[in-house]
Amino acid sequence: MLYYSLKNYKNLVSFEDAVLTGLSPDGGLYMPKCIPKLDTKFIRKLPFHDIYTLAMLIIKPYIGKYIPEEFIDKIIHDTLNFSFPMKKIHDNIHVLELFHGPTLAFKDVGAKFMAGCLSFFSKKLGKSITVLVATSGDTGGAVAKGFHQKPGIEVIILYPYNGISSVQKKQITSLGDNILALEIHGSFDDCQSMVKKAFLDKEVNKKYTLTSANSINIGRWLPQMFYYFLAYRQMIIKNPIELIFSVPSGNFGNLCAGMMAEKMGLPIKFFIASTNINDTIPRFLKSTKYHPLPVKKTISNAMDISDPSNFSRIWHLYHKNIFQLRKKLYSYKFTDEETLASIKMIWSEYQYMLDPHGAIGYLGLRQYLQKVNNVSEPSVFLETAHPIKFLDHMPFSLQKKILFPKELEVFLNTKNKNQSIPLSNDFNVFKNWLLERK
Ligand SMILES: *Cc1c(COP(=O)(O)O)cnc(C)c1O
Repeated sequence: MLYYSLKNYKNLVSFEDAVLTGLSPDGGLYMPKCIPKLDTKFIRKLPFHDIYTLAMLIIKPYIGKYIPEEFIDKIIHDTLNFSFPMKKIHDNIHVLELFHGPTLAFKDVGAKFMAGCLSFFSKKLGKSITVLVATSGDTGGAVAKGFHQKPGIEVIILYPYNGISSVQKKQITSLGDNILALEIHGSFDDCQSMVKKAFLDKEVNKKYTLTSANSINIGRWLPQMFYYFLAYRQMIIKNPIELIFSVPSGNFGNLCAGMMAEKMGLPIKFFIASTNINDTIPRFLKSTKYHPLPVKKTISNAMDISDPSNFSRIWHLYHKNIFQLRKKLYSYKFTDEETLASIKMIWSEYQYMLDPHGAIGYLGLRQYLQKVNNVSEPSVFLETAHPIKFLDHMPFSLQKKILFPKELEVFLNTKNKNQSIPLSNDFNVFKNWLLERK
């Protein structure tokens, strides 16, 4: 499969180059040249395939000859090594739990898959690859865990010294080995700008083969299609049904992966993009004006993004046509008060504990179902993180009721001391550190 840049359709690169570079040199995101169609027989048989066979059939055409099938199979087994259960909340509303991975957020799948691909390319090129990431929290943990002890790869994570939660910090700094954590005396924006400068710096690039592991990389983005197939597979299918999905959205990568699954032939009736008050997309769908405002802090902070990178992919998938997009996508925003109220309501009525991100997914679905006045439509919202990850933001009355998952114990009990290197937010200090080490 070849990939073109959204800034210039003539700039075609291989799967390998798209994963290694992340973003096209012209600044555009990569898109696959074509979207393979799965036949209806495949869709009907979907519940009878095991998840590894299924994942292989979905992802193989996007990789093509760049990674041998037996190695793709290994990456898939490595990536899908935890469960993705779906549970009924009420009526025909279901929750798909994506938080059973090692860092308790859905980003684990994309990070693991990308690490597997990079590790293969590093061996093939005979070069060590350095992954540079700036994180405001969740990405750092998922990337650290996903890339830990992968041969041929080292990871350097920059995080703001007082910008992340203690669980997130532990996840980034406790692994050691090929994972290096830099505590930057500055904000997340400082971290991001230092990383961007490093990518453009000649001397740094002479010493390192750099790549980024942010969510626009196709190696992280495409495997998220699996979730939608795994949800469909868990519905009992006598007659082919069409599902409705509500996706709590920040950078819109997860939603856009769902739209790819639909284009491949998965029967999806509608998508709902559920956001917090950083509501550029709900406003865009109403007014057709794309007008990002300054980011506002919320309790669903993994979605505090006002200019979502992956929206350019969605816009492209729907031929930059607002009428086509509106036929498939609804979008609603919710405040922190509404989010907290729904967490309490779902706990008291149905004894299910949502996190603030999943709660927004639920609210989006409910708003849509009320609008069409039909709660019996089969529908799914994605629960993207475990509530313990956002403990401080959970309703105070419920905090004691949240069960401590065993995945986290492994982290918190780890004997490793926190290993991080404090650095100022001056790019030259970072650059010298990069050039002088080893
Ligand atoms: C990253 C993240 C999101 C947003 O996903 P996007 O693909 O960026 O839209 C939602 N919830 C949680 C918990 C996340 O970590």
